[in-house]
Amino acid sequence: MTTPSRASLHDRHRDVLPDWLALYYDEPIELTHGEGRHVWDAEGNKYLDFFGGILTTMTAHALPEVTKAVSEQASRIVHSSTLYLNRPMVELAERVAQLSGIPDARVFFTTSGTEANDTALLLATAYRRSNQILAMRNSYHGRSFSAVGITGNQGWSPTSLSPLQTLYVHGGVRGRGPYAQLSDAEFIDACVADLRDMLGQTRGNVAALIAEPIQGVGGFTSPPDGLYAAFRDVLREHGILWISDEVQTGWGRTGEHFWGWQAHAQSGPPDILTFAKGIGNGMSIGGVVARGDVMNCLDANSISTFGGSPITMAAGLANLSYLLEHDLQGNARRVGGLLIERLRAIAASAPGVREVRGRGLMIGIELESPGPGPDAAQVIESCREQGLLIGKGGGHDSSVLRIAPPMTLTVAEAEEGAGILDRALKSSPSGV
Ligand code: PMP
Repeated sequence: MTTPSRASLHDRHRDVLPDWLALYYDEPIELTHGEGRHVWDAEGNKYLDFFGGILTTMTAHALPEVTKAVSEQASRIVHSSTLYLNRPMVELAERVAQLSGIPDARVFFTTSGTEANDTALLLATAYRRSNQILAMRNSYHGRSFSAVGITGNQGWSPTSLSPLQTLYVHGGVRGRGPYAQLSDAEFIDACVADLRDMLGQTRGNVAALIAEPIQGVGGFTSPPDGLYAAFRDVLREHGILWISDEVQTGWGRTGEHFWGWQAHAQSGPPDILTFAKGIGNGMSIGGVVARGDVMNCLDANSISTFGGSPITMAAGLANLSYLLEHDLQGNARRVGGLLIERLRAIAASAPGVREVRGRGLMIGIELESPGPGPDAAQVIESCREQGLLIGKGGGHDSSVLRIAPPMTLTVAEAEEGAGILDRALKSSPSGV
């Protein structure tokens, strides 16, 4: 056996971590540091990061304001956030409650998006005294036992057992079947009819509908604006709660809106909103915002040791302040808009690009699968070789390239990344 110090990190990873962790690239890369929109690997290669923005780094790698806030807080106190008063947690909760648009909003902090959705399910099922949940086809909501039970994207749902009774409705993605041909208005009507049919079978006992305003892991698919507002009207007739999973769509990334639900806002804000990922700019923050009566429906104690930790809250406050003061939502709209335009022009002459879609800095390039050009894995590999990191997603064939850079992306960096994507999309399928 090779000694640990001499074996490659990849081999050591394989020996001790689960097989089902999805590593990117034929030769996975070890990231060692980052700055702004760039990261470096252990061999000293520099990459423009077009994916980290949605994973961890909403604003910028090693943002000095966040690093300073974290190190100052670490040198003062890190303790339980639920047994003692914690100033950064209260201050961040106040700001998130106010930004959420939810009346009489209460905020509970967790350590991940999964735990946020778990908490939302706990609240909704307790409030409605029902374990029936409506979720969307092709959705992703996390990796816990209850979260996989509402994840429609089967590639990410490793068990069919669930504490919940879940019914999947149409709407998050059109797919390639009969819905693909409909106009937006016809699609909304068809999905509402599907929802009504579904409810007819449930004896009116459903707790909540959970939906991502734009499906993230599912391939950045945007339902037509207003779809969830139309759903909401039906849900209200039955007293069913609406949970908006904003883990990918929150904080202005979509450019036009601060939250994804606002594209469907005619019927007002959700009853419960969940968030996570980049708000801590790398520190693990998730959370739930809910109307006071919903949040306070639990009749036993419930705490989190690390959710709301002063250190992550200090990071969240510094990051949120930076985001608002520098109008990064506006930057996402402007730079994202230019990037989408540029990618559409590239797609027009690239073989096998089915669609370029997106809002702000949440952009998907769907490839034909199989198609005449390189497949998603080949494009991703070619981008890496040229110094660009991107993601992938979509349904069973993962044929969508996902682009979600830190929200400080500049026009010059957008141009640089687009140039690399142009070459990668037009490379020969066998030659990459
Ligand atoms: N909801 C959505 C929409 C997500 O995209 C994710 C993560 N990809 C989660 C929930 C789960 O978040 P986490 O990985 O932080 O548990």
